Amino acid sequence: MVKICCIGAGYVGGPTMAVIALKCPSIEVVVVDISVARIAAWNSEQLPIYEPGLEDVVKQCRGRNLFFSTEVEKHISEADIVFVSVNTPTKTQGLGAGKAANLTYWESAARMIADVSKSDKIVVEKSTVPVKTAEAIEKILNHNSNGINFQILSNPEFLAEGTAIQDLFKPDRVLIGGRETPEGQKAIKALRDVYANWVPEDRIIATNLWSAELSKLAANAILAQRISSINAMSALCEATGADVTEVAYAVSKDSRIGPKFLNASVGFGGSCFQKDILNLVYICECNGLPEVANYWKQVIKINDYQKTRFVNRVVASMFNTVSGKKIAILGFAFKKDTGDTRETPAIDVCKGLLGDKANISIYDPQVTEEQIQRDLSMNKFDWDHPIHLQPMSPTAVKEVTVTWDAYQAANGAHGICILTEWDEFKALDYQKIYDNMQKPAFIYDGRNIMDVEKLRKIGFIVYSIGKPLDA
Ligand code: NAD
Repeated sequence: MVKICCIGAGYVGGPTMAVIALKCPSIEVVVVDISVARIAAWNSEQLPIYEPGLEDVVKQCRGRNLFFSTEVEKHISEADIVFVSVNTPTKTQGLGAGKAANLTYWESAARMIADVSKSDKIVVEKSTVPVKTAEAIEKILNHNSNGINFQILSNPEFLAEGTAIQDLFKPDRVLIGGRETPEGQKAIKALRDVYANWVPEDRIIATNLWSAELSKLAANAILAQRISSINAMSALCEATGADVTEVAYAVSKDSRIGPKFLNASVGFGGSCFQKDILNLVYICECNGLPEVANYWKQVIKINDYQKTRFVNRVVASMFNTVSGKKIAILGFAFKKDTGDTRETPAIDVCKGLLGDKANISIYDPQVTEEQIQRDLSMNKFDWDHPIHLQPMSPTAVKEVTVTWDAYQAANGAHGICILTEWDEFKALDYQKIYDNMQKPAFIYDGRNIMDVEKLRKIGFIVYSIGKPLDA
């Protein structure tokens, strides 16, 4: 029986391994993590992450051929294939601070693999890493091993949170990069055989190691670039009277462009887009390509600008101040169908409003009060000027209440900001909400999900991203 061990039981490691276990009943899959709490949650009824369909998959294979454990060394040593799916956040100090990937977790995983391995292994980079990381990892593995053959593969993950299970069941492609040596090609074949249990052969792409590592950064950079492109257009639409939805539709009809990732919004979030672009910027700078670095930097700058623009619009429309006014925030997760708040635009929007002394009341169906308080009390890391951290006044966070109901959040509010595109926000009784708000009552739709005409008929003053403004 082939044994797989995955180091890192997070948003990627957990769902990815659950699907491998489901589709490959003859493979034993053990997901290990240093976080005792996370492993306990994976072994409980309350999984540590919310992802549609995940619970069902886990329930089908947990205890059969899917296991979650904190015995990291034991399961690494027993595995034939070791996936590494640890976090690779942006460095916050030292060389490359604000841009480079922090590979500390990866390095410690690699050292552990080298230290405990007693048999040949395929080591798979599942985390998103800078191009050429495999070279450094090989050095660690080969230096510490005694005659053990390690083959390193890059197999970046392209799932999107909120649709992870669906993405894993039917991936657009599975990318496997490896060395061009016979051993490298044999390792690629072994991993290909795992995926071939459910992924059509023509969707499994084999490349060299560096192409695979770089492709993941390139894919995220290009996706984020589309969002920043349409968001940049949304600013121009507001200035000129054009409607960004109409522009996006017209543009999307060009078959070379297509419709996906052209929704204007308050900005992109999530743990990956900004981090991976910064990583790309750093790699460009290190390779003497400052113009290319500047090009990608602009994608993040437009994203920051979009959040600032949104806050400014709220404040300006409310007679130039939100001081002492209640603003309801509907949605805090960075997108619908996830409870993940990493880099969510809601953090910057809330901080911007708190900076003008608003009282904010937040509702999100999947985000806890603890997460919100943590996110809002953390210093904002300024990637462009990593030396100067912007501290958050601890008193500001006291102006935040978290509710478990959208009506409660909006009760008595002067305005509502919709920051996540949860379907349930479209189905609320807005007449009831309007009746219980201060007048004039404002809605700022940061995701362009609302029926604006319906809201205007009720009496709301509505601001949608990239749309003509209310008089
Ligand atoms: P995560 O923070 O949710 O999970 C990482 C886990 O690794 C944590 O639980 C942590 O405790 C564990 N860990 C760290 N060091 C360890 C060690 N030495 N031994 C054992 N466990 C260790 O991160 P994530 O969102 O799952 O992302 C993981 C990687 O996948 C990142 O590189 C990310 O960029 C990439 N990725 C993420 C997504 C996404 O949507 N979240 C999508 C594609 C790729």
